[in-house]
Amino acid sequence: MYAKLQNIKVQPLPHFSSGDIHTDILRLDLLHPVVSGNKWFKLKYYLSEALAGNYHTLASFGGAYSNHIVATAFAAREAGLTSIGYIRGEKTTPLSPTLRNAMEYGMKLEYVSREAFRHTESIMAATADSGIYWVREGGFGTLGAKGAADILSVTDTSSYSHIICAVGTGTMLAGLVQAALPHQQLVGISVLKNHFGLEQEVGSLLPQKEGQASFTIEQDFHFGGYAKHPQELIRFMQDLWAQEQLPTDIVYTSKLLYAVKQLLALPYFAAGSRLLLIHSGGLQGNASLPAGTLPFS
Ligand SMILES: *Cc1c(COP(=O)(O)O)cnc(C)c1O
Repeated sequence: MYAKLQNIKVQPLPHFSSGDIHTDILRLDLLHPVVSGNKWFKLKYYLSEALAGNYHTLASFGGAYSNHIVATAFAAREAGLTSIGYIRGEKTTPLSPTLRNAMEYGMKLEYVSREAFRHTESIMAATADSGIYWVREGGFGTLGAKGAADILSVTDTSSYSHIICAVGTGTMLAGLVQAALPHQQLVGISVLKNHFGLEQEVGSLLPQKEGQASFTIEQDFHFGGYAKHPQELIRFMQDLWAQEQLPTDIVYTSKLLYAVKQLLALPYFAAGSRLLLIHSGGLQGNASLPAGTLPFS
């Protein structure tokens, strides 16, 4: 098992705390330098199903900077499976650092036009090989949520009133909702612009049962859209490092931290709240920035 769960720690964030509110962050990014954070948790049960079913290959979909693609490549290699990544768009030279890593982990890359990428079922149908285990883009699905639920067992999280995470497909949020205690409130920060079907998509991953923790999704912190990272966000990441020694990524976790800072100022959280933020990793994506942009790597 490559992921070192014992590396994960809870870091207090003094600049996100006051007399009334205490804030910690769960550092899943410390699992592994490249395959960090929630992607390993989300892949766990897909991987065990693939192994139990004697599949030889793990295949999935993603963009040129996808945390999910590189995690799939690594996880497959660790499990003794081969892997194929269907990549959105044309091949670029030089290759993105993400795809270079994925290839180093043995992944075969297939480039798919943006148009064809929208119809992943056709790609799956055209690749008629019963030995391939398919994982949806971003690890979306109930098994992905089941894996993400295990995030809250890494340490004792029962004393927190709020658990807050970045949201892409919503799979991680769905897992956290299932694992949280009924008194805990989940808050998801969407990194996609105008992704208003998200509540429903998260709901589709949840079992219908009473007594589940409730969740809300905040839509105003995408900074212009997926992976958009204006100068204001980069400056925020630099300040965050200076104040808290907390590294964040440009796609997910910086927007999570920025959102929490804004919400604290509203104020959004009642006095006495104890917040647990999830650092879901993704730092490998920062390699797409010009060298020296960030004071950490
Ligand atoms: C994929 C990812 C997310 C979003 O997870 P979803 O389950 O798709 O909502 C959040 N943070 C990081 C670093 C990720 O790579």
